[in-house]
Amino acid sequence: MNFHVLTLFPEMILQGGQTSILGRAIKNGYITLNAVDIRDYTESKHKKVDDYPYGGGAGMLMQAQPVYDAYQAVSKKLESGKARVIYLTPQGRTFEQKMAEELSKEKDIVFLCGHYEGIDERVLEEIVTDYVSVGDYVLTGGELPAMVMIDAISRLVPGVLNNDTSADFETFHNDLLEYPQYSRPEEWKGKSVPQVLLSGNHTKIAEWRLEQSIRRTKERRPDLYDKYKKKQQVIEKLLKKDKFLYIDMIESLRRGRGELIYNKEGGVVVKDGDAGIYMLAAFDSVTAEEIADTILYENETGQFLVHQECLLKSMEKRFRIEEAFPIKHAVYTQRVPLSVSKEITFTPLGIDYLEEVMEHYHIVPDEAYIKERLLSGNIIGAFIEDRLAGFVGIHKEGSLGILEVYEAYRRKGVAASLEAYMINRQLSCGYIPYGDVLTSNEASLHLQEKLGLCISKEILFWVELNGYLC
Ligand code: SAM
Repeated sequence: MNFHVLTLFPEMILQGGQTSILGRAIKNGYITLNAVDIRDYTESKHKKVDDYPYGGGAGMLMQAQPVYDAYQAVSKKLESGKARVIYLTPQGRTFEQKMAEELSKEKDIVFLCGHYEGIDERVLEEIVTDYVSVGDYVLTGGELPAMVMIDAISRLVPGVLNNDTSADFETFHNDLLEYPQYSRPEEWKGKSVPQVLLSGNHTKIAEWRLEQSIRRTKERRPDLYDKYKKKQQVIEKLLKKDKFLYIDMIESLRRGRGELIYNKEGGVVVKDGDAGIYMLAAFDSVTAEEIADTILYENETGQFLVHQECLLKSMEKRFRIEEAFPIKHAVYTQRVPLSVSKEITFTPLGIDYLEEVMEHYHIVPDEAYIKERLLSGNIIGAFIEDRLAGFVGIHKEGSLGILEVYEAYRRKGVAASLEAYMINRQLSCGYIPYGDVLTSNEASLHLQEKLGLCISKEILFWVELNGYLC
């Protein structure tokens, strides 16, 4: 990810990018930070970049010419050839986590920082793609807002955070504020750390944290709490209908990944924007037709988890369906962690394993996808006597998968240990672990049952849409 900042004060940007996580991310090459001094591009002999506003009024305005020329110079160097150009302004859309998630997928972003009373409107019309504010207050310049955005976006770029602190396991984006946290000592000024945090029982800790998050959100951010409550009502509805069939939608909403984009008596649609997946449920054929006619007409390509055959039929009438794999969900409904072999060492695999994982795993033969999963610490290797025996992963939308055991280590319980390890990891985050199994994959269905997972009775479909039928 490359950040380019057009500014009159490049030192503010460069200093901000020198330390801590951002500094390390730059040093390790996960991000680049390029501060471009707009003053270097002025045609004025006296290096002037501002002038009085026509029609009068307080203060000075940054002129169009230097801004435009600075932008032109940057745009020639863009790795991707084009980029979103964000003007930091109190008049823009308010920056929030969802926007950070969306922007973290860009290759290049150009930030334009205003100063004084702002920038000549004509150059903004010419180059800006997005107007973004960091809040309803007025600052002296766009540099601090640009750094705020760069910081929030960078930590979502795969590899920037440590492997074991994957951003996938974070709160906040599930419409709840984070729970209170404590560090050493156990007692300070007569106040003790809550007992549950010392218990070592990760399931109980996750429950306590959720409870605290809910209480805190209710008190401090009732607006967020209302959003959270609406999602909870949908979760209850899906749980009542069939908790195994709808576990993907339930968990997507519970984990704060999914966004409700359709919610009526007859159906629900959840969108996981980050994973680029839509999960569709229609409880009757009239709703199936309505979903295919409305929601899908705006999203005619991509991956869809379709929970009813009638919905698949409604989609087939309107869209080119590339593939539709029948699958079942396997769900671990217990809370007790599973036992794993003591002879295996589990370690997140880094990017050095890209080639090896690609060589052994063929279900999603997408290098960019595997690269992202490795960088975000979501593929775990099983090492036996320092040799890699297999691996397991978490797919982007949250299901267990990417399971492979190398030929020499098969039929020795390595697959069961790998899956058990991943299940335990998910339990410790307060998640209900689940995976998608092709109905034709007898071996996997058998493994799931052996580990104590429940298999959904109903079939659902992994569907790839490729545009409208003519
Ligand atoms: N006259 C402008 C107005 O009323 O919209 C405000 C100009 S402000 C003093 C100078 C610069 O600071 C802006 O051009 C913008 O780049 C930046 N800025 C100020 N407040 C901001 C905010 N809340 N979010 C993002 N950028 C901001």
